[in-house]
Amino acid sequence: MPQYTAYLGRFAPSPTGPLHFGSLVAAVGSWLDARAQGGQWAVRIDDVDRGRVARGACDDILRTLEAFGLDWDGEIAYQSQRDPSYEQALEALRAADRAFPCGCTRREVQASGQAGPLGFIYPGTCREGLPPGREARSWRLRAHSGTIRFRDRARGQQLIHLPDEVGDFIIRRGDGLFAYHLAMVVDDAELGVTDVVRGGDLLPCTAPQIALQQALGAATPRYMHLPVAINDQGRKLSKQTKAVALDRSDPAPALHDALTFLGQHPPTWLRREVPAQVLAWAVDQWQPERLPAAATVPAPVELRSVAD
Ligand code: GLU
Repeated sequence: MPQYTAYLGRFAPSPTGPLHFGSLVAAVGSWLDARAQGGQWAVRIDDVDRGRVARGACDDILRTLEAFGLDWDGEIAYQSQRDPSYEQALEALRAADRAFPCGCTRREVQASGQAGPLGFIYPGTCREGLPPGREARSWRLRAHSGTIRFRDRARGQQLIHLPDEVGDFIIRRGDGLFAYHLAMVVDDAELGVTDVVRGGDLLPCTAPQIALQQALGAATPRYMHLPVAINDQGRKLSKQTKAVALDRSDPAPALHDALTFLGQHPPTWLRREVPAQVLAWAVDQWQPERLPAAATVPAPVELRSVAD
C-alpha cells in the first residue's frame, strides 16, 4: 500500500437521524484507510441543510462513533457555522463569472431538462442572463469545464462530460442555503483533506465537486468510493429503504458486518471481541484492493443509497 507523507481523511455524516449501517460502513472505511497509513481522521457534521437536521441526531452520531471505537482528531466542524466561508467562495465564483443567478423553479427545470445521474440537467435558461421579468432564485456554476477525469482508488479511471451529464448545477439554493457540493468542497479544502473515502452512492457527486475545486483553485484530494449497497436480488437500495439504528451496547457484530461488506474477510471470532480489538485487527489487515464495487447488506439491516 502506498505510504503518503501526509494523510487527512474525514467522515462527514448528515445529522438526519441516528447512524445506521450505511454510514457505519463509510466511517469504518475512511477511518481504517487513514489509520492504516498513519494518517489523521476528522469528523464534520454536514448540517448545511438545516431543515433536514433531526433533533439530537448529532450527539447520537458522535456517541455511536465513540462506542464503536472510531476516534477522531481535532475539533468537530459544523457546516451550519460556516456560511461566511461559503459566501466568500460564491463571491469568488461570481467575480470570475463562473457563477450565475437563475430564476428557474425546480418544476421548470424538470419540465425542460433531461434526467441525469444527479437529477435533471439544467437546460441553460438563465445562463446568459435572467430572462426579462425573472428574479434570481438560486446560483449555479457554469459547467463549462468539459470533461472531468479522475482516478478513484477503488473504481479506477473515471471520465465524466460535465455539460452533458450534470450541467450547470446549483451552488446556492432558492431558499438561500448553500448547496452540498459547494459546502463540501470549501470545507474539505479549508481543512486540508487529502483523502475522501466515502459511500459508493456519492461517486456521481465527485465530478461536479472536482469542477468546483478547479473553479476555486483548490487542490483535488484522492478519492476512494466504497461499495454500493445492494439487496440480495442485486438491486441498489434506495433512500426509501428503512434504516435501522446501530446498537451502541454491542458494537462488535456490526463492525464485523461492516468489514465483511468492505471485502476484508474478518474471522468469526472477532464478533465476540471489544471494538478496539476488532479495529486493531482491521487496521493491520486493511486491503483497499479487496473492496468490491457492490455488496449486500446483512439482514435485517438496510440503508439509504443516495447523497444526503
Ligand atoms: N454528508 C454526506 C452524507 O452523509 C457525505 C458527504 C461526503 O462524504 O462527501 O451522505
